[in-house]
Amino acid sequence: MKSTFNDTEAKNYSTDLAMRVYTSQLLGRDMDLVLHGGGNTSVKIGDKLYVKGSGWNLDTIEEPGFPGVDLETLVEMAKLEDLSDTDMVAQQREALEDKSSPNPSIEAILHAIIPFKFVDHTHADAVVTISNTPDGEKRLKELYGENMLFIDYVMPGFVLAKEVYEKTKDVDWKSLDGIILLNHGVFSFDEDAKVSYEKMIAIVSKAEDYLKEKSPTKLEFSKSFCQLDDSFKEELKSEVEKLRGCEIVMKFGSSIEAFNFSNFDNLDDILKNGPLTPEHVIRTKPFPALIGDNIKEALETFTQRYTKYFKAHAKDEIMLDLAPRYAIIKGVGFVALGKDEKEAGIIFDIVSHTIHAMTLAQNLGGWKSLKPSDIFDMEYWELEQAKLAKAVS
Ligand SMILES: [Zn+2]
Repeated sequence: MKSTFNDTEAKNYSTDLAMRVYTSQLLGRDMDLVLHGGGNTSVKIGDKLYVKGSGWNLDTIEEPGFPGVDLETLVEMAKLEDLSDTDMVAQQREALEDKSSPNPSIEAILHAIIPFKFVDHTHADAVVTISNTPDGEKRLKELYGENMLFIDYVMPGFVLAKEVYEKTKDVDWKSLDGIILLNHGVFSFDEDAKVSYEKMIAIVSKAEDYLKEKSPTKLEFSKSFCQLDDSFKEELKSEVEKLRGCEIVMKFGSSIEAFNFSNFDNLDDILKNGPLTPEHVIRTKPFPALIGDNIKEALETFTQRYTKYFKAHAKDEIMLDLAPRYAIIKGVGFVALGKDEKEAGIIFDIVSHTIHAMTLAQNLGGWKSLKPSDIFDMEYWELEQAKLAKAVS
């Protein structure tokens, strides 16, 4: 991965907030770093934290996408024993410089406690791919050494900020190259926007080089192997529409990589072991339908499995619809199943990156991401569902 920071271009961004916009867009434009609303960035100016607001994507973010929040209030919140989501959102809104701003990112508290002006957070494919393998933590620790802070997976938001706060009480922040959140993503930080951005690129490049060495792949992406007949497509569409309760749009993934993936004989094992990064689950559900010759049977297996997963973890949540968001079609490829073009496109991108990561992980001992209980907490997390509702409206 190469830095796309351009010194001449950067001259057009004269303030700290403008620079924050510039490097956020650079991060957002690289789909190997963040996808569709993923990741968040911030800058501290005076007594305010300007952090990505909900509803904004990094690739297209502008200054109004960074609500200003009182920094001290956020730092104090990290010291609380406990904080409900509702209280967190309310207190963050209360601390807004301009009450008409969007809600600050759910990671605002975490950004606040990192004592550097610029803070960048991505869900870099290469780093989470290594993390999502049986020895992922060990591999990453060997790769990055002791100047990288590692945080075990916990829910994003207050719980994560609290965890980092506790873990860094005695840490010399200046000695840290960054933070890796296992099964989730990466943080980089610096007093300078360019340096913070390029630290991110350096961290991710290291993981990419590691994968190239340990998991070389010679797939080409240009040819199409997808040869489904129209009746198969029609049946699939109409059966999924019954489950979803509305019309759907299908987008087929028929790259060589998708074809190759759909021929793995341990698909069931791989696919039940969690998403690439936690928030993908709100787009893709915890696992896809796995379809062979019999579409109805495959969808029935999916709905039974989803119901079982829901019942095993639900407290008082209401179950979402039973339609899969994507399916792997054995020996063919995958299909994204969205309720419109936009959703199908988002799912398509996420699945493309996910199966690439899962393929690479096979040479590193297999795929092992979040536990079902963690996936459930994320999928049914009120704040994520609210984000989803906002993003699609
Ligand atoms: Zn994240």
